[in-house]
Amino acid sequence: MAETYDVIIIGGGPGGYNCAIRCGQLGLKVACVETRDTLGGTCLNVGCIPSKALLHATELYETADKHFEDMGMSAKVSADVPKMIEKKAEVVDGLTKGIAFLFKKNKVDHIQGFGKIVGKGKVEVAGKTYETKNIVIATGSEVASLPFIEIDEKKIVSSTGALELQSVPKRMIVIGGGVIGLELGSVWRRLGAEVTVIEYLDQILPGMDMEVRKTSARIFKKQGMKFELGRKVTAVDGSGKTVKIESEAAKGGKEKSFEADVVLVAIGRKPYTDNLGLDTVGIETTDRGFIKTNHWKAGEGVYAIGDVTEGPMLAHKAEEEGVAVAETIAGQSGHVNYDAIPGVVYTFPEIANVGKTEDELKEAGVPYKVGKFPLMANSRARCNHETDGFAKILAHAETDEILGGHIIAPGAGDMIHEICLGMEFKAASEDLARTCHAHPTLSEAVRQAAMDVEGWAMQA
Ligand code: FAD
Repeated sequence: MAETYDVIIIGGGPGGYNCAIRCGQLGLKVACVETRDTLGGTCLNVGCIPSKALLHATELYETADKHFEDMGMSAKVSADVPKMIEKKAEVVDGLTKGIAFLFKKNKVDHIQGFGKIVGKGKVEVAGKTYETKNIVIATGSEVASLPFIEIDEKKIVSSTGALELQSVPKRMIVIGGGVIGLELGSVWRRLGAEVTVIEYLDQILPGMDMEVRKTSARIFKKQGMKFELGRKVTAVDGSGKTVKIESEAAKGGKEKSFEADVVLVAIGRKPYTDNLGLDTVGIETTDRGFIKTNHWKAGEGVYAIGDVTEGPMLAHKAEEEGVAVAETIAGQSGHVNYDAIPGVVYTFPEIANVGKTEDELKEAGVPYKVGKFPLMANSRARCNHETDGFAKILAHAETDEILGGHIIAPGAGDMIHEICLGMEFKAASEDLARTCHAHPTLSEAVRQAAMDVEGWAMQA
């Protein structure tokens, strides 16, 4: 007799594990199938968490190495890369075990193995068929590459390999100037690698506010990162001792060759649905392979969430959807506000955004006002000698409702949330401008940006 569940979730990443735990909390009989040995998906195992562990360690290293002297201190630092990698692994281990503990606490059955849908309400794992009223697909994404690139995770690496290097490469080429390329490029640059980012577009960080894109490129250049913008990689040859890269101008013409010890391929990620049996339940995908959904529903009794569906490929987006689906299945009204999902680049300074960019508002014909405040005029930033960046608020020209927020600042990833909260409650920019902020804090720059929307920014 096959085991029967209310919900079987395929994939134990942020989408899947949050959905599973919420199902457990709501009293549903739930199982989560995960092919990896550990839970947590891309995010905990080879994504958000290990990258932030290395970003934190290397930020401390760079501060001590380069900036102590400015502040009247001196330190002799050296980096033990294998130890750093080991410490990062400890963090991952602790957090993935934490999910296993939460599964037990919330009565979630963890089925280890590859899950395949074999018909309506049927999931097969390692030759055994489980029956369920609902299936949630949370299989996430995998690294995207170019057809002529062979990733060996040693000299030509994806983000996964870049988190495991045991020594600092002398020269590193990063293909792709998006979030992952800039974060991992920063890790290795801080430790001494000569990092060059090759980006097809004319600016880094596609999709972000243009002012943020230009300013952050300027800041990264000042830190020593090199950029080759508007350049298309045409060949990557890792057969020799070093890696040879050929490129041409994206608009055609001017060819240029590069040589590196390590090449990081960071051109994006693609949805992962290999051998999932989507056809057995009539699930459709877009031409880019994302599962088509309507309010997370992909078919009769089948839902899909997270990176395998369209929208920003972010852990917290997957998590929101996981919770919303669990609540929907339990008969509640699951909800995700897609207008208030923040995005963060965890470099130094951090870059954070929520809501619309100026270009998006222009394109949609929405009348808007801009308020901006430079960190150079923020007293805490001056105390910290960290004055690169700004806070910027976009608000509706007539209603004053906050439509977007963009911040470049140390800790911007934390600062963005007051704008998210404001947007969630449909706050006017004036609401933020009239909210008392502690002094001296970097968050005052956000308030001053909101005050600037109203025409009365005043702090220096
Ligand atoms: P995943 O986390 O990819 O989980 C899917 C899981 O499903 C995987 O564990 C996979 O093994 C499993 N699986 C797949 N198919 C099957 C099957 N058939 N049977 C059983 N199991 C299966 N996002 C952020 O928000 N913040 C960050 O700072 C951040 N940093 C990142 C840094 C890097 C280097 C990378 C690569 C990504 C980063 N991301 C970050 C993105 C984030 O990791 C993803 O958006 C998030 O993990 C998506 O969650 P998910 O649950 O949809 O899928």
